[in-house]
Order: sequence, then C-alpha cells, then structure tokens
Amino acid sequence: MATIHILLVEDEAAHAELAQRAFEQSDVTLTLAASLGEARQRLAEQSFDLIVCDLCLPDGRGDELLMAADGQLPLPVVLMTGHGDERIAVAALKAGALDYLVKTPAVLLELPRIVERALRERRLLVERQQAEQALRQSERLFRAMIERSSDAISIVDRYGQIRYASPSTRHVVGYPVEGMLDRPIDGFELIHPKDRNRVRHLFHELILHPGSSATIEFRVRHADGGWRWIEATGSNWLDDPAVQGVIVNYRDVTERKLMELRLQHGILHDALTGLPNRLLLSDRLSQAIKRCQRNSQYHFALLFLDLDHFKFVNDSFGHPVGDRLLIAIAARLNCCLRAVDTCARLGGDEFVVLLDNVESQAAAIRIAERIMQRLSRPLELDGRLFHVSASVGIVFGSAAYHEPAEVLRDADIAMYQAKAAGKARYMVFHEAMRETAQARLALELELRRAVAQHEFCVYYQPIINIHSGALVGFEALVRWAHPTRGILTPGAFLDVAEEAGLNDAIGWQVLEQVCRQLAEWRRAVPSAKSLTVSVNLSARQFMLPDLYLRIVHLLEQYRLPPSVLKLELTESALMEYSRDAAAVLARLRDYGIQIAIDDFGVGYSSLSYLVQLPIDQIKIDRNFIVQLEQTHHSQAIVSAIVNLARSLNLEVVAEGLETASQIERIRAMGCEYGQGYLIGYPLPADDATRVLLNNAIRYHTEA
Ligand code: C2E
Ligand code: CA
Ligand code: CA
Repeated sequence: MATIHILLVEDEAAHAELAQRAFEQSDVTLTLAASLGEARQRLAEQSFDLIVCDLCLPDGRGDELLMAADGQLPLPVVLMTGHGDERIAVAALKAGALDYLVKTPAVLLELPRIVERALRERRLLVERQQAEQALRQSERLFRAMIERSSDAISIVDRYGQIRYASPSTRHVVGYPVEGMLDRPIDGFELIHPKDRNRVRHLFHELILHPGSSATIEFRVRHADGGWRWIEATGSNWLDDPAVQGVIVNYRDVTERKLMELRLQHGILHDALTGLPNRLLLSDRLSQAIKRCQRNSQYHFALLFLDLDHFKFVNDSFGHPVGDRLLIAIAARLNCCLRAVDTCARLGGDEFVVLLDNVESQAAAIRIAERIMQRLSRPLELDGRLFHVSASVGIVFGSAAYHEPAEVLRDADIAMYQAKAAGKARYMVFHEAMRETAQARLALELELRRAVAQHEFCVYYQPIINIHSGALVGFEALVRWAHPTRGILTPGAFLDVAEEAGLNDAIGWQVLEQVCRQLAEWRRAVPSAKSLTVSVNLSARQFMLPDLYLRIVHLLEQYRLPPSVLKLELTESALMEYSRDAAAVLARLRDYGIQIAIDDFGVGYSSLSYLVQLPIDQIKIDRNFIVQLEQTHHSQAIVSAIVNLARSLNLEVVAEGLETASQIERIRAMGCEYGQGYLIGYPLPADDATRVLLNNAIRYHTEA
C-alpha cells in the first residue's frame, strides 16, 4: 500500500505530538504546519491525501481551507475543534469537510481510524464526482447534438401535451420554443384542418404500442402565416422511465413536397392549360360510373367539345396564338362549371366536361347550351377578335357503362355528328349513332387510302351561253373511282374527307388533273382555246397560305394562261376566312384567274359584302331555279340577283337547269349562262373531249 501523506495543521505542540505518536505504527507520513499560512505553503509544495486541521489557528480558521474553486471538490479536510465550536463544525461539514472531531487526547490517539474512514469517504466522493462529471459531459454532448440538429425534436406525453421542444423547433415552425410547450398536439390549431384527423389517429394508435414508431406528413401553420409540410416520425418511449413520452422527430419537407405535388400535378394535368388531362378525367369518370352503378338516383353527363375551325387559327396565325387561345378558352370553360364538375383537355382542341350529379338529360343540355353560349362571345387576343364555337357531343351517364373509355367514345361519336350537322351545335348520343360512326370511320380509312392511290378523277359539266347556246366552259366536279363501289359523287365522301382533313389533298389532285386536261384540250382541240374550266375550292384550300403560289406554279407547269381557270368559292368559305379574303381574291384575280361565287343565295347573301369583293361571276343556286316555276317569291329573288350582278358587271350562271321552261324564264330575266342536266350531265374527261371535238353541246333556242 502506498504511503499516505497527511498534513497536520496544529498550533499546539502537545496536540501535534500526540498525533504524531498515534501514526508512529502506520505507513503515514505526517507533515506538520503550525499556522494557516504555513499550511498553504506546504499545500503549494506537494499534494496531500488528507489535511487534518485545527479549527482555531493563530492566523485564521481551519475551515478556510475548504474554499474550493467552482465545480471542484474542496480539499480533503478533517477539522478538529475544541468544546463549544460545534455550530461552526456543522457549518464546516456542510461546506464539504470530510469529518470533524472534538480534540481530546483520546481522540487524537484514535486519529489513524478517523483518517482511514475519512479517506474512504473521500474516495467515494471523488468517484461520485467523476461519475457525475461523465454524465454531465455526455448530457452536454447529446444536448448539443439535439440543439444543433436541423431536425426538431419534441417529447409529447401520453395526453398529447408537448413536454419538450428542441431549439430548432423555432426554425421549423417559426415559434419560440416556450410557446410550444404544454400544448396538445392533436387538437392543435397549428396543424392544417385537413391533416388534423390523420395526425390525431396516428398518435392515438402510436401510444397504444410502446416501442413502435410511425412517420407522417402534414401541414403546419408557420409563424409567417404560410403552410409548411412537415415530415414527423414519432417513437413511443412511454415505457422508458427516463423519457415517458413519444419522441417526435420532425423537419420541414415543404420543398420536396411541393416538387412532388408539382410532379403529380404534371402527370394529371395538361401543361398548356393546367386543366386535368385524360388520366385524371378517366379517374373521375370511373368514379362517376361506379357511383352510377351503386346508386340508381345518381347520374352524370359527359360533354365532348371540339372547337370548330381551330386548325385554321393555328395555320393562319401560328401556334403561339393558337396556344393562347386555348388557354383563354380553358379559363372560360372552367368558369361556367360548378366545383364538382371536371373540365379536362384531351389534347389539341378537344375538351371534355364531366358533369357530376346531374338530375336529367335536360339539365345536362341546359349546361351544354350555357357553355356554348359563353364560348360564342368573341375573345380578344392582341387586339384581334376571335369568334370561337364548338361542336358538342353529350352523353348521359347510365349504369350501362363500365369503362371511362366507353363513355368517351360515345361522346366523341355524338360530337362528330354535331360537326357533320354543321358545327357549332350539340348532339345527344343515342345508340344508332354508333353504327353511323363506325361506317364513317371505315370511310375515312378508305379515303386515306384513296388519296394515297390517286383514286379521284374529274367529271366535266358543260356551261353554255343560254342566248347563243355556245359551250363556254366546264365545271370540274370530283368523282371517286371506288374500286368496288364504282364512281362516287362528292355527296358520298366530301364531308368525311373534310373532317378528316383530306379535302385539300383531294382538291389539289383535282386542280392538277384539270390543268393537265386543259393543256391537252388546248393542244388537240382548236375550239378549246377560249374554254374556261371552273374548279371548286374548299374553304380549307382557300385558307392555305401557299394557295396562290401553288396555283401559279401549276398554271406555269402546264403553260396555261391564267384566264382559263375559274375558281368557285362558296360564300360560307369566304366568310370563314374573313381575314383578308378580299386581298387573297384580289391577288389571284390580278394574276388573271377568274373568281366565281358558288351557290349564291344560300349562304350569308350579304350583297354589300359581295360588292366589295373582287369577283367575276356568281352562280345562282339550284334551289332557286327549282322554285322558279312554283313561287313568285323566288322569281323575284332571282331577278333581283341577276339585276344586281349586271349592274356590278358580273357574269351570272344559273345552276341546275332541268327544264326548258326554267331556261326560258332565266333567259327572260337577262341571265346569260346556264348549267344543268338538260344542257349536259357531268361527263368523264373522254366524253367531254368528244363533246368538244364534235361541238355536240348546243342548246337550241326556240328563237
Ligand atoms: P356544286 O359546286 O354546286 O356543283 C354542282 C352540283 O350540282 C354537282 O353535283 C352537279 O352534278 C349537280 N348538278 C348539275 N346540274 C344539275 C341538275 O340539273 N340537277 C341536279 N339535281 N343537280 C345538278 P356533284 O358533282 O355531286 O357535286 C356536289 C358538290 O360537291 C358541288 O356542288 C361542289 O360543292 C362539291 N364539289 C364537287 N367537286 C368538287 C371539288 O373538286 N372540290 C370541292 N372542294 N368541292 C367539289
Ligand atoms: Ca360549283
Ligand atoms: Ca353550285
């Protein structure tokens, strides 16, 4: 055993001697000091295991040695007192003295035992202090970790009261920590009302199972007023006596969450308009179908909207304008709906409106009418007014539907019927439409093939001067030489071709054939030099930006003078292309091509409009001619048209002449030209050539 060093501070020599004697037999080295000053000096020189010190010393009190630096144990001091100093002794013990003894000779001789006990006591003290220090250190470490962490940590008791909140709470939610304490988390007004129930349920589930943990995301009102997404993981430590709570670890995940939501939004929404897309619509639609099947009282309706002539907007004004128009239309559609309805964009100019819970078909129709009426108000973009209309197919939802695609298909079919019936209208789907649609689809496929294989040919119907009877030209009329069905007239395919966007391709094939034929006639038939051929131009063709150049190119290719070509346009085609129609016509006409207004009298018949247009000819619609013999009314109209045309220096052609009396009447009115079955049927090119060669057409006047 190592030597024990003891400092004895005693001013009375007799007592010191007694003490020295007491330690003689032990392995204790005793150093003596007779005053406080000397004791301090000794202490400065070496360290002692124990100090045995008299309370009353010449230069002060022994307990002064007990004064310790902060956090340090006081020196290991055993105090000795005389009688009557007990009060001071008790105070000294409180100040950290290891022991005290009342100084009697007997006690002094007992010193070794006292010292031994004091040293034991001291050892325990030191050990306890070291343990406490270690604990304090690790606590400091953990606290630092928690407090420096960007995650916030709270401890919540089983009643949902927040017992501890780490300082980073402040960063996450913006409130001072103190404000968070002792507030219940479940009814907590800072949690978003829509998330509160989820949080509450999860918490109650969590506290039932000690040791379990769960993660949840919810929104919290930040001190700045905005919502933050929080991801929180709660661990049940209720059984741990040191914690007795749920440790909740949470952090701000707003940025990630917003990104997720944006992505989610992107998957389910149309990027251009922000409206739900087909996927989201299908989801809502299948929910509506399911509800329909569960509840016979519930109905929904689907409106399939396709904008009319939208492609022309894109073609004529460019896609950026088209896009902005779509955005404006989307906003407009969205505004006419109730919150429960879904307005989706399927792509292009197709929109779908799902009307939730509509009581009747009539109600669905009312809404469709309201939407169409709203749409029809002109839209302004860059100071330009756009007139928008849509063709709408309506399906009333019933339990007969099982898949969203079925409903969409039927609505699409009804929409097509609305288009075919003249656009800017709605059609309610009924079963019979399905067959029509299938036939239409088959026809469209066949037409595409026919365009690719150039199955179209041109028939030529003679036009004569009804005064002289001389042939002045032909109208070129397209025919489809169908491989199995024979020669088909435009009524059998032109509408479908137009919807399928095939009209201009067919139109160019016609124009090309006509030019080739004209060149051929001019080469082979001398009388063909003064011949003109009238070609019908579809509205679509007329709107093509390269129309002029293509026609000029064709004429040059076949070395034809422009005057041989007459372009027939309907009034409605001109009206559809209100922008600069006159300028386009003027350009063609300046080049030398003639312009005719076809089917005059059926369309808008704005005479004032007509006066402004650079045209050469008007063709009076067959309907007026048919009625000539029946009503005085149509006689008056035809006679007015003829007079007007003559005063404007325009040629007039009467179409659809089938009887001699029609020709007589028309001639009496001063109409110059005529065309009709009585004069000649539309003929294949070879027959027309024969007519030309033999000069076979000559309607002989009675005069
Ligand atoms: P449209 O321009 O009014 O052509 C006259 C139509 O009346 C022709 O019908 C012709 O066959 C028919 N027709 C002529 N005389 C008589 C008659 O005395 N009585 C009766 N009932 N009908 C008569 P088609 O060939 O069936 O053409 C129908 C329409 O198709 C044309 O009406 C025209 O709008 C359009 N079309 C024809 N060919 C073309 C073409 O190449 N391009 C374009 N875009 N449209 C064309
Ligand atoms: Ca025509
Ligand atoms: Ca016509």
